Amino acid sequence: MEKLYDIAIIGAGPAGLTAGIYASRAGLKCAVIEQSAVGGLATTTANIENYPGIKQTDGFSLCYTMMEQCTASGAEFVFDRVADIAFDESSDGELRTISLAGGETISAKKIIITAGASPRKLAIDGENEFIGKGVSYCATCDGAFFRNKTVAVIGGGNTAVEDALYLEKLAAKVYLVHRRDALRADKILSQRLLQSGVTPIWNSVVEKITGDDKVSQLELKDLKTESLNTVSVDGVFVAIGQSPNTQWLRSLDLDESGYIVTDSLMRTSVRGVFAAGDIRSKSLRQIVTACADGAIAADTAAKELL
Ligand code: NAP
Repeated sequence: MEKLYDIAIIGAGPAGLTAGIYASRAGLKCAVIEQSAVGGLATTTANIENYPGIKQTDGFSLCYTMMEQCTASGAEFVFDRVADIAFDESSDGELRTISLAGGETISAKKIIITAGASPRKLAIDGENEFIGKGVSYCATCDGAFFRNKTVAVIGGGNTAVEDALYLEKLAAKVYLVHRRDALRADKILSQRLLQSGVTPIWNSVVEKITGDDKVSQLELKDLKTESLNTVSVDGVFVAIGQSPNTQWLRSLDLDESGYIVTDSLMRTSVRGVFAAGDIRSKSLRQIVTACADGAIAADTAAKELL
């Protein structure tokens, strides 16, 4: 069965939910399509202190409230995976068709892609083998399994530092393995990390994750001395950045890292198709900038429909 919408939004993270709120409040019939859980990667953040107007919250609570606002505004949620988008314009130049994995088809006059990004992998021996057996990409999802155990977080950005600080409250011992001796994370988080009980291992990379039926050891290389060391751990949390979820979007102009190129009104290289949030090529990936992108994309699309 084919359903017809003014705007179809692909991805229900902060950008998609905000686009849904703005599009629906503009009186447009709008579908928010999500393949897994509402909120996206933002729900894996345990502590948010930089979203204006809210002194402190967590990603799940913030996104849940956005979802409630989006629903109250009139947006419809469709839980399915987008299998394909027909980027070629229809003969009347009006509608584009989105095929869902479940067999349903959605037609929309405008499409806003807010499919976000996924955690990047280390691509080393043992990583895939031990996923779910000690290797994790989400401290808030899996941290509780490592209560009173020893864990290592890999990376030096905001995610790694936040994860290490979160895990410190649960685990007996937390290492932070970073390939340099300076953190990329925001200053306030970096200071917190350096004053915490987390043990940094600087200038080091993980070369191999080993164990029997679950993770028991990391093989590290010190990049300054070239020496090889091992650290005994029960868990390893990989937080080395993100890759955009654009593998299925080769028809759009992407930057060299695979993010969708847009103009300041969130228009992509294909007419009537917009992108917003972490999937878009931009300088600052935060919940607040994702929301701003979503609002702009919905507003631009709405104005084009008037
Ligand atoms: P990120 O900022 O890209 O940092 C990735 C970290 O992993 C860097 O320290 C990088 O090292 C390291 N790294 C990259 N590839 C590596 C590899 N192959 N082996 C070892 N280390 C590697 O990623 P992120 O921390 O996931 O953050 C992503 C975005 O979300 C950022 O824009 C961030 O600001 C935002 N974010 C914001 C908050 C917040 O504001 N509270 C929280 C989470 C995320 P180098 O430093 O040497 O490059």
